[in-house]
Amino acid sequence: MEKKLDIELVKILTQPIVPPVLHYVTPRKIMGQSKWNKLKQEYLLLADHHCMICQRYVSHTPGDWLELHERYEYDFENLVQKLVGYVSICHECHMFIHQGLLRIQLKSGEISAENYQKILDKGNGLLRQFGLQKITYPSEEVFLSPDWKLDFDGKLYGK
Ligand SMILES: [Zn+2]
Ligand SMILES: [Zn+2]
Repeated sequence: MEKKLDIELVKILTQPIVPPVLHYVTPRKIMGQSKWNKLKQEYLLLADHHCMICQRYVSHTPGDWLELHERYEYDFENLVQKLVGYVSICHECHMFIHQGLLRIQLKSGEISAENYQKILDKGNGLLRQFGLQKITYPSEEVFLSPDWKLDFDGKLYGK
């Protein structure tokens, strides 16, 4: 059966990179590894070998696994990153969302320039198809603010 792209899911690719101060304040840490693993398994079953964003078949062989990603909404005025759900997605879609990490991997040589470009091209292509754009921070100051909070199940967590 041909899987169709869903704009609401493709929209997840517009998610901006996580503000640095929240890198270590994650739902995974708050809920603990065993709960996280359970959730990951749950979404893996839901996804049924297909990336929930680009719908490509994911084989679950070394190097090709579905990854659990947290969906966030960003409030740039109140500096709140709110968890709104999860998706099970392929590595390329995941790295397109976490472009900050992708750039670090490029610099360290962990990925080639060719693969880096491939990931960007694929994500940008999907966004273009739906007339979407990656969300950007209103300013560098907002991005780097130490006051960002994670809203997880209605509770706020900060550094
Ligand atoms: Zn994908
Ligand atoms: Zn993620």
